[in-house]
Amino acid sequence: MDIKLVPTICPYCGCGCGLNYVVKDEKIVGVEPWKRHPLNEGKLCPKGNFSHEFIHRDDRLTTPLIKKDGKFVPATWDEAISLIASKFTEMKAKYGPETMACFASARSTNEENFVMQKFARVAIGTPNIDHCARLCHGTSVAGLAKTLGSGAMTNTITDIKDSKLVFIIGSNTLEDHPLVGRSVIRAKESGAKIIVCDPRFNMTAKQADIYVPFKSGTDVALFNAMMYTILSEGLENKEFIKNRTKGFDALKEEVMKCPPEWAEPITGVPADTIRKIARMYATSGASSILFAMGITQHATGTDNVVSVSNLALICGMIGRPGVGINPLRGQNNVQGACDMGCLPNVVSGYQAVINDELRKKYAGLWNVADLPNKVGLTIVETMNAADEGKVKGLYIMGENPMVSDPNVNHVKHALEKLEFLVVQDIFLTETAELASVVLPAAAGPEKQGTYTSTERRVQLLRPAVKPPGQAKADWEIICSIAKKMGVKGFDFNSAKEIFQEVAKVTPQYAGMSYERLEKPEALHWPCPAADHAGTPILHVPKFSHPDGLGILFGVPFKPPAEVPDAEYPLVLTTGRLLYHYHTGSMSRRSHTLDAEVPTGFLEINPEDAAKLGVKDGAKVKVKTRRGEIEINAKVTPNIIKNHVFVPFHFWECSANKLTIDALDPFAKMPELKVCSCKVEVV
Ligand code: SF4
Repeated sequence: MDIKLVPTICPYCGCGCGLNYVVKDEKIVGVEPWKRHPLNEGKLCPKGNFSHEFIHRDDRLTTPLIKKDGKFVPATWDEAISLIASKFTEMKAKYGPETMACFASARSTNEENFVMQKFARVAIGTPNIDHCARLCHGTSVAGLAKTLGSGAMTNTITDIKDSKLVFIIGSNTLEDHPLVGRSVIRAKESGAKIIVCDPRFNMTAKQADIYVPFKSGTDVALFNAMMYTILSEGLENKEFIKNRTKGFDALKEEVMKCPPEWAEPITGVPADTIRKIARMYATSGASSILFAMGITQHATGTDNVVSVSNLALICGMIGRPGVGINPLRGQNNVQGACDMGCLPNVVSGYQAVINDELRKKYAGLWNVADLPNKVGLTIVETMNAADEGKVKGLYIMGENPMVSDPNVNHVKHALEKLEFLVVQDIFLTETAELASVVLPAAAGPEKQGTYTSTERRVQLLRPAVKPPGQAKADWEIICSIAKKMGVKGFDFNSAKEIFQEVAKVTPQYAGMSYERLEKPEALHWPCPAADHAGTPILHVPKFSHPDGLGILFGVPFKPPAEVPDAEYPLVLTTGRLLYHYHTGSMSRRSHTLDAEVPTGFLEINPEDAAKLGVKDGAKVKVKTRRGEIEINAKVTPNIIKNHVFVPFHFWECSANKLTIDALDPFAKMPELKVCSCKVEVV
């Protein structure tokens, strides 16, 4: 009997844990610890422990499918690739390249994402390339680029254990990033204080020394009032502000309009609590901030992130161990997909496309006259343009907007209006069902490549088994289409060859190679040279702006796009669960994970439930201006009054049928975390 262990990287969240797949007779039959892995030392959360269960499912896509008369018919690769290449070429000529768009994937490798953005910009010639970071940390990238010059975690996951105070806001860290949660617990065991601000008393809040329940969408008011306290009491780091920042006067002018008593009715947090947590943050000696989508998924998401940055900068909590600003990325390779340039405004390494010199360099390298010289459409803008008939062709790799995007009824309408939709995935997802052509892709444990975790750690993925049937790695499929279209520059023979091109054109990855990544020691970007050891802590000794200074901004509070009224009196907020991952296409096909939480639920506070006559476990209808769902109620004091919570993983009671597609003006992030709703007993 042939049994082997293959060390590789967990295909689920952005923590980037190492694990060993147990392979027997060419099947993955289990998961074993990878004890030498420097991040997680063999420890895994339930998702990682059961990450093999979806791999060998009978419903994996194993052959290309072409829709004929409304039904999918199996096709050969040659038929599918020929059809796509001729249709893309025809549409490009007939309507122009900007009527087409590509979505890359935070679940695919760096190499596949790099090739996808190259395909969009070179083979199609469209600037419309985006991926689901737009729906999770687009505002982190925008906000931190604005203030620090670089939009990534400033410190590492293991570094958190050296903090004296961990300030967590809008992140259920212990459920959604369990191995980051482990560092938080280690910090606590070493005497650190933990502050958790969230509308839900979640698993993370249970570990807090101070839990601060607050109203969803009022983050800026909370931060401004904390900074009012810090400045009023002289607790700011004056030397750091003087030597390493600019813009302090503008910040001070805004913040001094926001005393805690002003913020109390807006946020629901008592003024004394605001003062207390502000003092604790400013005086701990080493305070680290962790945040996730509770901060980012707002129409004011960029303002929220700038506020986080303002707080850290005025207290000098950046650029050394145990401090920092740490946006926790959700999917396994969302950091990498951003790094690779799967964004409509930048190519790889966050290099702006509106730059003649840069485009000239890329055009020469990629053998084209020029790259599209404009910022393309984001995900929600693409859906709006499809609905208006302006986008007619869409190529989606490993994304499922029918579950992940806001206002799903509108998304469905938009996708159905497309003339040609290609979806490439490992399962026939809710989005793939609407496609003209479906292409079967290899899953993470079936291919080589690299992922970049939330802490900027670039890691090598090793194939444990072969893909099922005719499924292929995403990069192979994209290259086949490009070559069939007669486009040069897609003659890659391996993921390693693609990575060599990535290193050539991406300053942060310039010193990396597969040979270096073979070792489990971390290479955190930026790693600009072959003898560079990588950069675990950013912004030492200066920030990434040309003058090296961090920028402070005065940020006025703005209410959410939709606030409760007589017709829709409750606030709906959404989120994730320990046992599930994103749109559930993988975790809901894992029988162990699915058995833990087989469907969605609505959390409602006992006082609101009593007013509405809602009993625990009863079926209720949740309605917003965009749609309605039926779902079972969970009556619990863990959600604050006037708020309800629905996890977004479950298609049959889809939270995103309810959410609003109001956008952040800078990052075009939709406001997935707050809208108005009503709840009725069925
Ligand atoms: Fe996988 Fe994330 Fe769990 Fe680690 S914490 S095992 S990366 S899902």
